[in-house]
Amino acid sequence: MTNRTFTMIKPDATEKGSTGGILQMINEAGFRIVAMKLTHLSAEKAGQFYAVHKERPFYGELVEFMSRGPITAAILEKDNAVEDFRKLIGATNPADAAEGTIRKKYATSIGENAVHGSDSDDNAAIEGDFFFSKLEQF
Ligand code: GDP
Repeated sequence: MTNRTFTMIKPDATEKGSTGGILQMINEAGFRIVAMKLTHLSAEKAGQFYAVHKERPFYGELVEFMSRGPITAAILEKDNAVEDFRKLIGATNPADAAEGTIRKKYATSIGENAVHGSDSDDNAAIEGDFFFSKLEQF
């Protein structure tokens, strides 16, 4: 599955009505959507998803933010998907994000940064399976 990655359009972007614009940037960059849903994470589910950050000082804030409203979760397909999607979203902090990236255009702060993108092929598979059954992955 080296040609797949996982993304979430986060609650800040959902609230601002940026979902359509972000999906358009994703499509125009050559990614094919192979699974997608609008959902609302409970604090428990958000905590599980970001368990790797449990010891970080911002973990509580991150869980609260990610569970405050709906998100769009999706699995994306393209050659070199993980690396190319990280390039498309830009740096974690939008102040450092390059021109033309999703976070430069739509993110507000290092915490409320509009989109998630998997950081490895292994995590892309784990994160995709967190949201979608195999029957929902096309
Ligand atoms: P990413 O891979 O670029 O999403 O960044 P990380 O894996 O380092 O962090 C995961 C998520 O935690 C980020 O996308 C942010 O939403 C959040 N985050 C990271 N650093 C901070 C921080 O310093 N403060 C807050 N509030 N949230 C942060």
